[in-house]
Order: sequence, then C-alpha cells, then structure tokens
Amino acid sequence: MKKSNFDIIVIGGGHAGIEAALASARIGMHTALLTLSIDNIGKMPCNPSVGGPAKGIVVREIDALGGQMPITADRTALQFKMLNSAKGPGVRALRVQSDKIAYKKMMQAVCLNQEHLAVIEGMAVHLDVTDDTVRGVTLKDGTVLTARAVVLTTGTYMAGVNMISAEVVKGGPDREETTEDLSASLREAGLQTFRLKTGTPPRVLTSTIDFTKTSLEPGTPGFLHFSETTQEEDVRSFENEIPCYMTYTTPATHEIILANLNKSSMYSGVVKGVGPRYCPSIEDKLVRFKDKPRHQLFLEPESLSMDTTYVQGFSTSLPREIQEQMIHTLPGFEHCLIKKYAYAIEYDAIDPIQMKPSFESKRIHNLYTAGQVNGTSGYEEAAGQGMTAGINAALSLQGKAPLIFARDEAYIGVLVDDLTTKGTLEPYRLLTSRAEFRLLLRHDNAEQRLIHYGHEIGLISEARYSRFMKKQEDLKQLEDHLGTAVFEQDDPKIHAYLAGLGYKNDTHTGVNGRELVRRPKVLTKDLLACIGETADADLMERCDIDLKYEGYISKARREADKLKAMESIILGTEFNYEEVDNLSIEGRQKLMKYKPETMGQASRISGVNPADLAVLAIAMKQGKGRGVHS
Ligand SMILES: Cc1cc2nc3c(=O)[nH]c(=O)nc-3n(C[C@H](O)[C@H](O)[C@H](O)COP(=O)(O)OP(=O)(O)OC[C@H]3O[C@@H](n4cnc5c(N)ncnc54)[C@H](O)[C@@H]3O)c2cc1C
Repeated sequence: MKKSNFDIIVIGGGHAGIEAALASARIGMHTALLTLSIDNIGKMPCNPSVGGPAKGIVVREIDALGGQMPITADRTALQFKMLNSAKGPGVRALRVQSDKIAYKKMMQAVCLNQEHLAVIEGMAVHLDVTDDTVRGVTLKDGTVLTARAVVLTTGTYMAGVNMISAEVVKGGPDREETTEDLSASLREAGLQTFRLKTGTPPRVLTSTIDFTKTSLEPGTPGFLHFSETTQEEDVRSFENEIPCYMTYTTPATHEIILANLNKSSMYSGVVKGVGPRYCPSIEDKLVRFKDKPRHQLFLEPESLSMDTTYVQGFSTSLPREIQEQMIHTLPGFEHCLIKKYAYAIEYDAIDPIQMKPSFESKRIHNLYTAGQVNGTSGYEEAAGQGMTAGINAALSLQGKAPLIFARDEAYIGVLVDDLTTKGTLEPYRLLTSRAEFRLLLRHDNAEQRLIHYGHEIGLISEARYSRFMKKQEDLKQLEDHLGTAVFEQDDPKIHAYLAGLGYKNDTHTGVNGRELVRRPKVLTKDLLACIGETADADLMERCDIDLKYEGYISKARREADKLKAMESIILGTEFNYEEVDNLSIEGRQKLMKYKPETMGQASRISGVNPADLAVLAIAMKQGKGRGVHS
C-alpha cells in the first residue's frame, strides 16, 4: 500500500477544486489535487461560457483574491459581452464565450506547473475519519493519502447516474467513472447526503446549421476583461471574436415535446433528485410556462478545435429519436446533425447547512466541502466556494482566523451565507436578487472590496497591490480635480455639450465638474474633453459611477452597517439554546438545527422571528448559552 502525506488534499479538479488547490498551494501548503484524470481538470461539462449576471461579479471577486478562473477565462474567450450595460452599475456583469478545450488545457498546465502542488490521478473511495477529524483519503487502488485537511469538491460525480428517457447508466458527466463508496463513507462519518439532478442540451455540428435563419448575438466592443492582470494583447480583439446566434422554439417543437412528455426521465418518474429551478429543461419550461408561444435558444460555439454548437436552453432527457425530431423544428436546424445527445444527471450532494461559513464541516474537523457537491450549480459558484474552502483550510492549518466575507462585501459572501445559513433543497444558483446590497457589490469595485484580503493572505503580489493603491490614488485625484475645476457654462464647448444632452444653462456662474457629472447624461470622459483633458478610461468610468450614484451608495452603506452590528454578535455553533427561556418553539428548533455562528445568521433563518432575537440578546447578556458579545 502506497502512502503519501500532505497538508491539504483537494479531491476534484473541477472549477471548485482548481481554485481550492491553487489557493492552498500558493499560500504555501503542501497540497495534493486528486482527480479522476488530468484531462478532466477544468472540464466544462455544460455551457461553454464563464460569467453572466451575478456570476460575472463572482469571477471579478475571485480575481481580487488572486484566483485563476478570471485569468484563464480572459485568455481563452471567443467573445466578450458586458450584460446590462444600459442599466444601473449594480447589475452590470461580464460574460465570456469560452473555448472549452483551450480553457481546460490552460487550467491543466497551470495546475501541473504550480509550486507546492502535486496532481494525482486516482479515485477517492473512502474518507478516513477518526475522532471526528479527517485524516486523509483512501483511493480505489488501495493507496492511502494522509493530510491535515481535506477539501471535497467532487461535483456531480458521487453516485452519479446519466439518464436519457428510461435509459439509466451509472456514471459522472459523460458517463465518466463514478463511485457510490465515497458518499457512503461520508454518511458513515455522520454527514447527510441527498439527491440532486441537472441536465444538459444537445451539441450540434456547426457546419450543418443554417445561420441565415437565426439572429446574430454580437459581443461588446472595447477591451473587456475579468482579471486586472490581463493586458489588451492577451485577449481576442472584438474584430476577431467568434459570434453567437439566437433561434427560437416553434409550435412544432412544442407539439413534439408535449406529445412525448411521458418519455422524459423527468416526467416518467425515473428522476428522484431535485432539478435546477433557474436552469430548467425544455420540457419543464413548456409545462411551467404553458402560455409562452416560443422560447429563445442561444447558439454558442464550443471551441475553435471542435465543430460543435451548444444549444443553450434546450436541455432535455427525452429519447434520442425525439431529440432528433425536436431539433429539426428549429429555424436553421432543419438539416442539422446532432453530435452529442442531451442527457440528465443525478448525483449525491451534501446539504451545506452542515458546514460552517468557512466551509469546514460542523461535524468533521478539518473537512471542507465546495462546489456542486454543496448543492449548487454553475462553474462560478463552484470556483467562488473553492477559493473560500482552499483559503480557509490553509488559514486553519496556520492557526489563523477564517476568512468570511460579509453579504455587503462580496457575492461570494452572499453565496456562502445563503448556503450555510439556510441550506438548499435544489441546485442553488447565484442571482442578483439574492443580494440585498447590489449597489455595493459591483463589477467595477471588486478590487476595492477584496484585494486587501488577497494581499494579506499572500495570494496578491506586492507589485499588483501597489498598482491597485496607485490607481485608487489616481481616482481620488481625478474626483478632487473635478470638484475644484470650474466649468463655465457660457464656454461655447461646454454649452454645446450640455445643450446637446438637453440641459439648459441654469446658472450664470460656473458649476464644478462633480456636480455636472452627477447629471444622468453627463460623462466624465466627454466633460474633460470639453476642456482639452483626458484620463485613464477605467478611472473615468469609475468616476461616473462614484459620483452619479453617490447618494444611493451611501444609503446602501448605512443600511449594511446597521446589519453588520448583528454580525458581530457571535453565538457559535456550541451555543446551548436549551438554556434560553421564551424562545418560540419553531425558533428554538431551527436554531438548534442550523446552529448559526452569529446573531446576523440567526436573523436570516426562516422561522426565527424578531422576538426570538430579542430573547437571545437578553439571554446572552445574562451569560446564558455561552455566546460572546464582541
Ligand atoms: C449534465 C450536466 C449538466 C449541467 N448543467 C448545468 C447547468 O445547466 N447550469 C449550470 O450552471 N451548471 C450545470 N452543470 C454543472 C456544472 O458542470 C458544475 O456546476 C460545475 O462543473 C461544478 O464544478 P465542481 O468543481 O463543483 O465540480 P466538477 O466540475 O464536476 O468537478 C468535479 C471533479 O471531481 C473529480 N472527482 C469526482 N469524484 C472523484 C473521486 N471519487 N475521486 C477523485 N476525483 C473525483 C472529477 O474528476 C472532477 O475533476 C451541469 C453539469 C452536468 C454534468
């Protein structure tokens, strides 16, 4: 029996595992990344894209913390698109169409060349736990890997089954090898697992699609990027981007699907797990939105080295012959060839309510979990959790306090708090609506919010941190300059600019630039041009957001600060609620079940009412339950 010893073992080389392993190794921990095969490190089993609403902001946050997804996504992007650019800055988000082969190849190279990181191929079948503490993992071939901490990121692989109609085959994504033993060993160690389901659409040979019958979905011009370390020459230019397209389902598509509903794995009773509410199958959409005459489908190229198109929105578990009929009813797809049929997958997941906000198990010391195995869905959600778990496993081994982001500080904070406070019964997806303070959690200010953490834990270099500090100083100078520079509205250029936007000359004296930029249509860039000046494009945009939304941002900040006071009251998972009189029955049950870390978390548990919180606060002052006021 072979035996190796590590500080941290990360099981899984998906989007969560990569970030966890790289963060741990870059912090200096002797780390192992265990994966079924090196070739599936960084695999995109579903859509070939990174980012989108809320998710794109998570990728920016990963960048501010020194993670890898943003760098790889930039360098392997086929198309960049800034979503909601006409809307407020709180909902703007970047999405890239990825070359899925180039993406995984780059991730593999990064992992294989990372100092302090050993990449090991093998299948974990048993989590070795003694005295409620994880000691390592045993592999299928009998190898034992020992470690001081383990991060579990097995995605959709544990006890996976692939389904097309009534055909049920054991396997992870694309029928890769799976095991039921690993989740059995988690249950043995005291963790609860449950079944979840997700699905993926068919891939079609691109050369067989008639794109003249579809509409073009272009990207956004300009230099867009997730990572602040990306240079313009590192990315594909707008002119060279590979386009996406859009088509729609037709009445004929709906007729075929509805006539065959009983053959779908979902509706024939084959599926036992709960599917993703926000990424439903096409048969689900037809059943749920009966009156909708058509559904839009995005056509996304998968890779420059593959002749395949991903039909986003057409996920199904109907039989292959029905998939053939359905797809030929789509405009542009009349003569298309399916390269890979759609299928659904069901797998074992862990209810994340069993985890602390550091993603350490409440029950098994030094065991961390992250990614789809925690009941989520999506690459970015997985990567954000992987960062959190990898950093916290390393910090814990260094004897340091965990890094936990507040809900007003990061979308990752919202995600972690939702998962560990409320748990989930269906694949959880991050949505902008889940964040109370969207205006504080913006694409443009991710570095401002988080880079100091990345720097402090050693994931952001001195050079990058200094560049950031310099940029902050430059921004302040630009805003100060606008505050002191007087723009005479009688000046012909300024008058013409303001009049062109529909603003009247409302003062006879000059108005300072800050006040002018507060007007909705005035842009720093254009205003400075009126007086023959310019500045860094990024800074001018940041200036626009800071000044135009100053009032709203301050209001959100004040509200967030009020809630923060609750977060500083630590209950701790050992708090004894039996010692507290007068809690409501439901409140007591939920508090005992979910074991919130803080009063803030307790306040977000449904069933814990304001009266329970008041009772708890008094009990703590009386020294009951052993909670701590900090
Ligand atoms: C069919 C399908 C449909 C999907 N549909 C959607 C969708 O519609 N929307 C969406 O957002 N997301 C979807 N996803 C999910 C998306 O793929 C995941 O969210 C994302 O990949 C999760 O990342 P992860 O790191 O948690 O796990 P994964 O990317 O799945 O990575 C898991 C890793 O663990 C390794 N591993 C597993 N078991 C073991 C073991 N026992 N020993 C050693 N290594 C192991 C694997 O080799 C792999 O490297 C879908 C996935 C599949 C398979």
